[in-house]
Amino acid sequence: MPPTHITILGGGITGLSSALHLSRRYPSSLITLLEKSPRFGGWIRSERVQVSSPNTSKKIGQHNENETNSASVVLEYGPRTLRPNSKAVLELINLLSLSTSLITIPRSHPSAQNRFLQVSGTQGLTKLPSSLLSFLTSPLLWPVLRELAFRPPNRRIQGVEDDESVHSFLSRRFGETFARRYGSALVHGIYAADSRILSVRAAFPTLWDAESRGFGSVGRGVLFGAFGVGKSSGEERYELGSIEEKMKGVSVYSFRDGMETLVQALVRDLEGMKNVRLVKDVEVTSVRPIEEDKSFEITTCSQPMHRTTHIFSTLPLSTLHHLLPPSSPLPLAHLQANPSSNVRVINLVFPPTDKKILPDGFGYLIPRPEAGYPAAGEGHEGELGMLGVVFDSCSLGAQDYSLPQSSSSSSHSTSPSQFTKLTIMQGGPYPLSPSPTPLASLLRTLSSHLPSLPDPVLVKSHTHMACIPTPTPGHTKRMEELKGALRVWQGGRFEVGGAGVGGVSLGDCVLAGKVAGAAWD
Ligand SMILES: Cc1cc2nc3c(=O)[nH]c(=O)nc-3n(C[C@H](O)[C@H](O)[C@H](O)COP(=O)(O)OP(=O)(O)OC[C@H]3O[C@@H](n4cnc5c(N)ncnc54)[C@H](O)[C@@H]3O)c2cc1C
Repeated sequence: MPPTHITILGGGITGLSSALHLSRRYPSSLITLLEKSPRFGGWIRSERVQVSSPNTSKKIGQHNENETNSASVVLEYGPRTLRPNSKAVLELINLLSLSTSLITIPRSHPSAQNRFLQVSGTQGLTKLPSSLLSFLTSPLLWPVLRELAFRPPNRRIQGVEDDESVHSFLSRRFGETFARRYGSALVHGIYAADSRILSVRAAFPTLWDAESRGFGSVGRGVLFGAFGVGKSSGEERYELGSIEEKMKGVSVYSFRDGMETLVQALVRDLEGMKNVRLVKDVEVTSVRPIEEDKSFEITTCSQPMHRTTHIFSTLPLSTLHHLLPPSSPLPLAHLQANPSSNVRVINLVFPPTDKKILPDGFGYLIPRPEAGYPAAGEGHEGELGMLGVVFDSCSLGAQDYSLPQSSSSSSHSTSPSQFTKLTIMQGGPYPLSPSPTPLASLLRTLSSHLPSLPDPVLVKSHTHMACIPTPTPGHTKRMEELKGALRVWQGGRFEVGGAGVGGVSLGDCVLAGKVAGAAWD
């Protein structure tokens, strides 16, 4: 029997994706999605803004005060790029007919080839190797050769059979310096977290598995993986249309009007379905199981009591912990085991100049300082708690276009924008000051990495509290235990998914929505 009434808690990408897939899987079930904020999409948020600056590109003496450069520019306040390896997202794009809105960045593009590190205490940026030749002459060569040739002690010998931190894993295999410099920077870029507390098994399962696949060597495991040795084939089936073909040779992609395109298309589609109800501005305050018929009573801050037969929760696990009765037979402590990161996203737009102000590339990451992170109140003068900087114009410049000189002009320009946009990520393991960083300090620090920056024409700052969960060692096992307990509680009618449960990437979240409730009929 299909479920009578499914309630989805949370309207981020996991909740919206699950609403679409559940409505397709169970067309006769009523589906209600409850979202506490006044908008859907969770951390996905894009904005198209207009920017202007005086036109100074003419020779001195000929500068016309009335002439301005203007452009329409897309800013991302949350996620900005997707990788084509997530079939779940590609399927969504196909189902929502979004392929004409895509912006794809080929693997040969400079933003796919060039990534940089900014090593604390040094000026400028260090390019990471992007080809075999550059790898052979880079400082990465020796740690990797050492790992391949000398087979550092197997994890079982080291007593870390179940899990360990990313830092401990990389130090064990490639040495402490490699782990701090490259591992911590990578973790800053994806999780905005401290690599010393992030679970390698949860965050980088392929790396963890590579150690077993490579018979004790991660390097060999990765090589074998590349040739398909020991790879399990995915079990899910996807409706991809011609989208996979379009993604051949693509490194990353987004949408012409930003990542929120995906959310808007999902909401439009779901609002057109008779069996789906999307409700926003409603905060769920408790979930009570009803023993007799294995259903649930949901209390919200503003609506009458809500009765439902099945629940898919995409809420942060720590929020869910407060909603469930303490008497439930679930391992509730697992819901509170992980911290999450606060991140400040600062978008800057710079005016057109005659000089090139950014190197061609995706951006740069900043490793953990050698002395570790400062404690709250200690200040972090040097890099201002910066985790990394994304050169949005290089990868996503196709989102932006020049606007005609004056509003009286009727021609619609589609020429590329001459403005440069970039995004600074701050926070994570660094304490965040309650007030935004003063612009002067920000620009001073940025100029020590990127010396040719002019003054920006636009600065936007958003502080996201508890926005990216940090799965700590043991997370995978804890989630297996939680899911095992949920399978028997209330007849298995309550499931959990989303960034706090599986991976944090949009691909992981959309997949969690696709597989939600698969066992409910
Ligand atoms: C700054 C930033 C940059 C990122 N960059 C990338 C990137 O480039 N690529 C990538 O793949 N991923 C990226 N991510 C990660 C990715 O965006 C997130 O992991 C993903 O959006 C999480 O989706 P979710 O639906 O699981 O959770 P959320 O987006 O957190 O959605 C949960 C929803 O539940 C709602 N909610 C909470 N409590 C209640 C309640 N009591 N009642 C009702 N509703 C409630 C919230 O309002 C929210 O809308 C980034 C994340 C951040 C923060």
